[in-house]
Amino acid sequence: MKKIDFSSINTQVVNKRFIYIIGASLGTFAFIFNAFFVVNIVGDIPIYFGSAFVLLSLLALPFHVALLVLSASLAPLVIFDGASSIAWLHGVQFFAIALLLYVQIRFLTALLLFWLLIGLPIASMIVDSNLSLSYQISVFIALPFVLSGLISGMFAILVYWLLPVSSQFRQNPVLPKFSKVVLEFNLVSVMLPFFVVLLFLIWRSTHDSQISLSLELDNALEELNRSSTVLLDDKVHALTSTAALLLNEKNIQNHANILDTVANASADIESMIVTDEAGGILLAAPAQYAAKLPNLSQLNIAFRAYFQQTKERKIPIISEAIRGRGLGSLDIVAITAPILSERGFEGLVQAAIKIDRLVDQSVINAVQNSQIAVIVTDAMDSIIYSSPRLDLQKLDAFQKNQDDAANTFLLPKMIVSEKDYLYRSLLSPAGWKIYTLTEPRRIFKDTNMYFIFMIMIFVQSIILIAILSRGLASNIVRPLRNLEAFIKGKKLPDKLIAEAKVSQEMFLVTESVINAQKLTMDFQKELKKQVEEKTKELLSLNSELLRVSRTDSLTGLFNRGAFDTLAHEAYMYCRRNKKSFTLTLIDIDYFKNVNDTHGHNAGDQCLVNIANIIASMCRRDTDIVARYGGEEFVLFFASDKPGEHIEHIKSIAQTVSEHVISHNDCDIQLTVSCGVVRVENDFSKEMIELISLADQQLYLSKDQGRNQVNSISI
Ligand code: GH3
Ligand code: MG
Ligand code: MG
Repeated sequence: MKKIDFSSINTQVVNKRFIYIIGASLGTFAFIFNAFFVVNIVGDIPIYFGSAFVLLSLLALPFHVALLVLSASLAPLVIFDGASSIAWLHGVQFFAIALLLYVQIRFLTALLLFWLLIGLPIASMIVDSNLSLSYQISVFIALPFVLSGLISGMFAILVYWLLPVSSQFRQNPVLPKFSKVVLEFNLVSVMLPFFVVLLFLIWRSTHDSQISLSLELDNALEELNRSSTVLLDDKVHALTSTAALLLNEKNIQNHANILDTVANASADIESMIVTDEAGGILLAAPAQYAAKLPNLSQLNIAFRAYFQQTKERKIPIISEAIRGRGLGSLDIVAITAPILSERGFEGLVQAAIKIDRLVDQSVINAVQNSQIAVIVTDAMDSIIYSSPRLDLQKLDAFQKNQDDAANTFLLPKMIVSEKDYLYRSLLSPAGWKIYTLTEPRRIFKDTNMYFIFMIMIFVQSIILIAILSRGLASNIVRPLRNLEAFIKGKKLPDKLIAEAKVSQEMFLVTESVINAQKLTMDFQKELKKQVEEKTKELLSLNSELLRVSRTDSLTGLFNRGAFDTLAHEAYMYCRRNKKSFTLTLIDIDYFKNVNDTHGHNAGDQCLVNIANIIASMCRRDTDIVARYGGEEFVLFFASDKPGEHIEHIKSIAQTVSEHVISHNDCDIQLTVSCGVVRVENDFSKEMIELISLADQQLYLSKDQGRNQVNSISI
């Protein structure tokens, strides 16, 4: 039986125009999504969900149409956002998945393979090259790309499954195993919401982390600002009081004591001096500096900016940081207070404060403990203080290496000693700039924790689902397999029914198939029986037909046609084996007279009687007797004793002539004339020539008076 080749049936019922319309719609959606619905997950890194439509077109539409959808989806990335590296990533995704589909890998597998093996490394590299972060953080920032890719792909799978017409555009008509479909469906229905939630959590937790880091940095700034302002205010206050004291104390001898007392009162003060209105040093404290005084008096600090400012503005001044010179060769900040009398500026009191004393150490310690680094610069951007781990030199010019172009985070970012920091800054009342810095990886600390936890749950769920789906699928598929086996005759219906009890539909289908199969079998049996009977009838009819076609209806002898066939075969045999034989034509003499005298019925009766006589005398296997024409008979003898043939023919003629036929009270007696050809040597002649030779001998017998036998041997 010829089988139907289902795979060759063209299922492409949807016309080409429709496919292009679908392609154009998907392309439009992809364009709109990538142009207007871009989501920023971590800072400014854009996530494009338009690729869902591209993947759907890759699944459902011909490759060249999908390629058009891809172009439409990438256009906004390149034109509006200048995100050509992300466009590349999407392009690579498209071609990699297309290739995997081409080699008959299932879409979901292709999607997962791509994003884990190719997508994640490439996305990390893109992030890494755009932002100067550690590779670990780059991988983490790249993770939303991967998640968005997976979400898009799974969305495409769901839509593809749920649209009833989608199978009609199917490009690869390799049908999946049902168990795989169930597994995929289960995996997608778990993974899709999971990835969406994960993406949301990453966004939420990085956002929250940044807000809390920002608060932390701001608090530290405030604290530093407050403490340094208090410290400076104290010193300004102390110096202003000292200046007033010095002015009021007329006894010059006591001036040194006053200064000494003030200098020793505060540990922050490294040294103090008093100058005249021209900048010449009059006094110094504490003792070790006072001791150097005769030499110091030759010094003049009029060239210092803080001296000039104090003199001009007649208010206390806090200087820039000054590299170690003058007293003690230490790096200091100078704080001044003018000595003002009715005559005006009479000089100033100055305190040199070691720069590491300028910021309250306890505050610094507190800040340091909270993973925050600190930089304080003066108005000229010289570093007054920096946390040791930043590896900066005090009093160096601070070059703020800001990286605002790639503003991935809510907080600004700068690079210090080749490391990334997020920072906040503040301008203090003294004109100083205070920076608090922290490392960007802290943003991901919480997320990391979430993430590891989520991944653990995810992996567990996937394993569980894989196992459950397998069981479920095999339960559903087993009855189908059973049915297939049953139809092929390899399974018994009892087991079939038992295992089909997984669902109502399956049970009904199985029952129907068993019934249908039973009907078919019964029908086949009945058909077989009928065919056998008909065949038998036909065979007997055929042999009857054959017999009738070879028999002369009046005499029951072979007819001329049958004789021609049989004699030809016999002659061929004799010719091959050089066996002699005898061919005889017998014609009834004056037979016309019988018809004319007694009627046709009498003639027929005579023919039957004579045929019976001839047949009864020619009973050998090798004898062929036939009615050759109206009242003519032909005999073919091929027995082993050819010498007896002529005598036998003569005795037939004799028997006929002695036979009396009674018809309607009339006795009829007939004779026959015979023409005989004996073939002993010459086997070259054809049968028709032999017949003609016999006919000649018959003619001779007729000519010589009838009732005779004439023969010839060749
Ligand atoms: P002869 O052979 O001795 O020369 O004379 P004839 O009368 O036998 O010769 P002819 O061949 O002229 O006649 C043969 C006759 O046989 C003619 C026909 O009417 C008759 N005949 C042939 N077939 C049948 C038949 O089947 N039934 C009857 N009744 N007569 C037949
Ligand atoms: Mg005749
Ligand atoms: Mg005759």
